[in-house]
Amino acid sequence: MKQLSLIVVYLFAVLLPLVLSWLFGGPPRPVHQELASGLGILAFAMILMEFVLSGRFKSVSNGIGMDLTMRFHQVMARTALVFAMVHPFLYQGTPAGGHRPWDLTRQLTITTDLTYLSTGIAAFLLLPTLVLLAIGRTQLGYRYETWRLMHGVGALLIALLLLHHTVYAGRYGSQPVMTWLWLGMTGIAVGSLLYVFLIVPLRDKARPWRVVSVTRVTPKQWELIVTPECHDGFDYRAGQFAWLNVGHSAFSLKENPFSISSAPAGGPEVSFLIKELGDFTRTIGQIKPGTAAYLDGPYGSLSVDGRDEPGVALIAGGVGLAPLLGIIRQMRLTGDRRKVKVIYGNRRIDQIAFRDELDAVDVTYVLSEPPTDWRGETGFIDAALMDRVFSPDEMRDWVFVMCGPAIMMDIVEGHLLQRGTPNNRILSERFEYD
Ligand SMILES: Cc1cc2nc3c(=O)[nH]c(=O)nc-3n(C[C@H](O)[C@H](O)[C@H](O)COP(=O)(O)OP(=O)(O)OC[C@H]3O[C@@H](n4cnc5c(N)ncnc54)[C@H](O)[C@@H]3O)c2cc1C
Repeated sequence: MKQLSLIVVYLFAVLLPLVLSWLFGGPPRPVHQELASGLGILAFAMILMEFVLSGRFKSVSNGIGMDLTMRFHQVMARTALVFAMVHPFLYQGTPAGGHRPWDLTRQLTITTDLTYLSTGIAAFLLLPTLVLLAIGRTQLGYRYETWRLMHGVGALLIALLLLHHTVYAGRYGSQPVMTWLWLGMTGIAVGSLLYVFLIVPLRDKARPWRVVSVTRVTPKQWELIVTPECHDGFDYRAGQFAWLNVGHSAFSLKENPFSISSAPAGGPEVSFLIKELGDFTRTIGQIKPGTAAYLDGPYGSLSVDGRDEPGVALIAGGVGLAPLLGIIRQMRLTGDRRKVKVIYGNRRIDQIAFRDELDAVDVTYVLSEPPTDWRGETGFIDAALMDRVFSPDEMRDWVFVMCGPAIMMDIVEGHLLQRGTPNNRILSERFEYD
């Protein structure tokens, strides 16, 4: 239901400028010109909505999940790019020239005034650059923080260039109603950016945290525990995640998303299970207890709270255990009577984290590089293993929560759907955010 209302709001916001342009834009022109303007208008509206989609608004991402929100952000960015790239070429054949006083609706010509066109041309060049840099971010190898800053500044520049271009070069944008609408929508987009880079840090600064402990739990995984300082912590649901900033200013871009592996019922301390991967996570072991930290969250929709299925299936690959650990802990602490089964896959035996705790529930460990004396499951989490662990009734009636490598999630999800698990009983979180 929430997803549907968000889609309706999105469509409303994106289509509103198109509808108002049509209502207030004057007499119609040849189809190709209308199509050109329409695509330009749609592209600009979609680009402005991209700011809201990536704005860490809980009302958006907690309803449909952060990864889905970001996938939608990426798909819409590519769609808007195509619209924006096609739009100028569709004006082919339209007489060009300066604005003619007798052609009040700009029906007969398109402008050639370079001042008005130059902002459009600049945006036309910048937009594909921004999208391509985002698509090739990992291959290009620059730091995530650098990319994030570039992406934010680039997007802001594009929005401002397009605002100028739309209002001054566009036939429709120059109508007073449309000018105000574009100004308002650009204001919301810029506001979203300010919210992430200014308001959220200000809010986090007022609610600092402190590192309690950093403990190695496997050769490459650490448990980091923080405690609220002079406040009562935050309200979260087991399975959600937060952006963690340790040892930097609240305004620093050096913050990373991590699932919360503690349970809200366990008290105000919050713990994370963190795997060494890159420049921040490889230095986790050097963090000293007492270091100041900031948490922005909670985010995400990976939660089984309030659901009425008779059982909860938790499927984790590697550090994907983190949010599921939070769910297991919460269920234990609250005396949750639903049945639980866990499948936990790793490469090697020494990568299994929190084994003592997991042994207390119905858990199936899977190792792809087992030691010779291993008597558990071997290989990868696949369809055959799912069929061994879950009965057809469980597949049909339980809620399935999974987190791990993309390939594992694709296989598990595909198999569940094949076995008749409804879509709304399959919850997943991908550890990717761009
Ligand atoms: C919703 C979510 C939950 C996650 N939960 C966990 C968890 O519980 N445990 C765990 O070990 N890992 C988790 N991750 C992955 C974790 O965020 C990255 O491994 C970590 O940010 C890598 O940072 P780095 O600086 O060490 O590595 P880098 O080498 O700098 O980055 C490696 C990759 O991590 C991602 N990344 C880096 N910095 C950020 C950032 N500031 N924001 C978003 N993505 C970034 C980028 O894709 C980057 O390419 C989660 C990711 C997401 C999106």
